[in-house]
Amino acid sequence: MKTVTVPFFISHQGCPHSCVFCDQRTISGANGTLPTGTEISERIDLWRSTAAGRPLEVAFFGGTFTALPEQTQSELLAPLQPLLQNGTLESVRISTRPDYINADHVAWLSERGVGTIELGVQSLDDAVLSASGRGHAAAASLSAIRCIKEQGVRVGAQLMPGLPGDTPALSLATLEQVIAANVDFMRIYPVVVLRGTELAERYTAGEYTPLSLEKGVRLSALLLQRAMQADISVIRIGLQADHGLTVDSVLAGCWHPALGQLVRSRLYADLINRVVSPGERVTVYCHPARLSDLVGVKRSNLHDQSSRGVQMQVVPDAVLRKEEIKVEIESISTVYSIIKDNNYSIHEV
Ligand code: SF4
Repeated sequence: MKTVTVPFFISHQGCPHSCVFCDQRTISGANGTLPTGTEISERIDLWRSTAAGRPLEVAFFGGTFTALPEQTQSELLAPLQPLLQNGTLESVRISTRPDYINADHVAWLSERGVGTIELGVQSLDDAVLSASGRGHAAAASLSAIRCIKEQGVRVGAQLMPGLPGDTPALSLATLEQVIAANVDFMRIYPVVVLRGTELAERYTAGEYTPLSLEKGVRLSALLLQRAMQADISVIRIGLQADHGLTVDSVLAGCWHPALGQLVRSRLYADLINRVVSPGERVTVYCHPARLSDLVGVKRSNLHDQSSRGVQMQVVPDAVLRKEEIKVEIESISTVYSIIKDNNYSIHEV
């Protein structure tokens, strides 16, 4: 049964840093205050009433949880303890910086029900981290991943392709290292230049060029395919268009309200472009859960095939795996996989 996440956005709380891309107030929409114990309990009750019996997880997003005073961390986690004990809550997730977590922190959090820690890894290139004002080196991320995993806590890595000094090859190298470190899942957030940030000033001054939407989609498709090949789930691509992030707060960069779907659709589009020739009439079958990705945002994949002279019909087929499509041309069917059969080259991004 799919877990329901009860989110709490703790904004810039606890974070003494100022990464060039970050405006937590824009991303989280939070006003800088932390939820009280009563507010936490009430929100969990509210979400439980609509969860239809599905397991609940509480997540503290934003900020740097482990940089908060220990007393504050305790106060946030305290109302969850009875709910964890009586089974109302299944687990707790926090996010933090790689240089603010060590074995003692992990043990302390684990004792209080934290089962997942998300790290803002962003890049594993020291020059990129430095140019982005992160204030730590790549070694801190690898060490943090290791010490979290050693204590049996799930670890997720947030990656941010397109930071100052980054290249597609460096983004791929970061992803490969994160895979090798055996993280449990990832989020991919291509850089969005938010108004009011240092990155916005650099962009306006002509000192920084972000990934365009098109390039960000191509790079994310390659990264997603590589993660799928390694069987590591990518649970989110692109910043969420809520919690205060609006079109007005975006100055430039790779932002789209349905970026994840654009990226997944690209995997299908690229595969079909490879295996279907212009002018052919084709029926493409896919798992029902992947129909909207195959069709594309605003039916873009159908329109693109039409402009190649391809007459494409799409049909759901629950027999297929989620990563598979069956391509039928003149009664001959072939099954392809977006994981195995897209041949991406980093040099084409
Ligand atoms: S560490 Fe996180 S919260 Fe702190 S400034 Fe950087 S991105 Fe923002």
